[in-house]
Amino acid sequence: PLVLGIETSCDETGVGIVRGTRLLANEVASSMEEHVRFGGVIPEIAARAHLEAFTPTLRRALDTAGVQLSDVDAIAVTAGPGLAGALMVGLSAAKGLAMAANKPLYGINHLVAHVAVGLLSDGDRDAAVAALPPDTGALLVSGGHTEILRVGSLTDDVQLLGSTIDDAAGEAYDKTARLLGLGYPGGPAIDAAAAQGDGSAFRFPRGLTMPKFEGSAENPGKHRHNWSFSGLKTAVARAVEQFQDQGLPVPVADIAASFQEAVVDVLTSKAVRACREHGITTLLLGGGVAANRRLRQVLAERCEAAGIELIVPPIPLCTDNGAMVAALGAQLVAAGAAPSSLAVPADSSQPVERISV
Ligand code: ATP
Ligand code: MG
Ligand code: FE
Repeated sequence: PLVLGIETSCDETGVGIVRGTRLLANEVASSMEEHVRFGGVIPEIAARAHLEAFTPTLRRALDTAGVQLSDVDAIAVTAGPGLAGALMVGLSAAKGLAMAANKPLYGINHLVAHVAVGLLSDGDRDAAVAALPPDTGALLVSGGHTEILRVGSLTDDVQLLGSTIDDAAGEAYDKTARLLGLGYPGGPAIDAAAAQGDGSAFRFPRGLTMPKFEGSAENPGKHRHNWSFSGLKTAVARAVEQFQDQGLPVPVADIAASFQEAVVDVLTSKAVRACREHGITTLLLGGGVAANRRLRQVLAERCEAAGIELIVPPIPLCTDNGAMVAALGAQLVAAGAAPSSLAVPADSSQPVERISV
């Protein structure tokens, strides 16, 4: 199916077009620059920016794909989770288009879309897999979420196996970057700074790895497959203060690299173990933090050692975009899923198990 996808859950206005698992267009406009001086996304500014950016972004996507609205089989749109006001701009636009062009509308889950995007092929990349094997998992690492999932089916069976109990991985990157004076958004800044530093300079904590939290495979503890990143953030803050108190220059690159090493180590070790203990043999990686070069490298190594097939999206498709929404929409259409009502509401805290609404 030819599907148009619309994404406005945060500060990216995205319109993507796919045919099945083939990527035809992915246009993204970001209001990130407008949020930089606040050090984080301001919902009201983001919503207004979506209004301005939507129509030109849609135009560009249709032009790039060489299709018209009347050609598409369905329109998919992020219904949640995300910022309520921002979501409503995309939803309203999608409803208007669906109604005017008489197309079915699919209100979909942004988090599952971050996972579904791994199935797309583009010019120099074949479809990663034709169909998901039954024992598939997903590691979702984004600005607001960090979850390990069992994916029975991308269209009707996603189950949460573990998650962060406090900060998301992307949030930890953003907060740590701010502590280090690296600006916003923090992920790409730390990724770059870390490349110049020594990741073994500091030994930062790996949250929830003590035996009392993890237990054993036979007798798992409550937090065996969960993460915590708030202690790591505190440890970084303390390290920075120690240098400042002594009037010494803060070794930013070494701290960034050591922080990244801690995040990547605990993310990958717990994800791979959860896969092993749940019989998962194929793992999809998704979410903005999936753009992180060190994470991609270490996860690939550890999956290979554990005999797990890893599917990773191209870096530009990891952060928020419309192609991921279209990718999930195409799966739903192909599976014969029922379209959404034109009254579908925005759900700012939509749980990952609710794939479409
Ligand atoms: P969610 O998807 O949970 O609703 P979101 O949509 O705001 O949250 P994403 O767009 O998926 O988040 O991801 C943004 C996050 O990814 C930010 O926290 C950003 O710092 C992080 N990020 C982006 N690039 C990198 C990178 N190269 N390394 C690490 N983190 C990165
Ligand atoms: Mg963003
Ligand atoms: Fe996202």
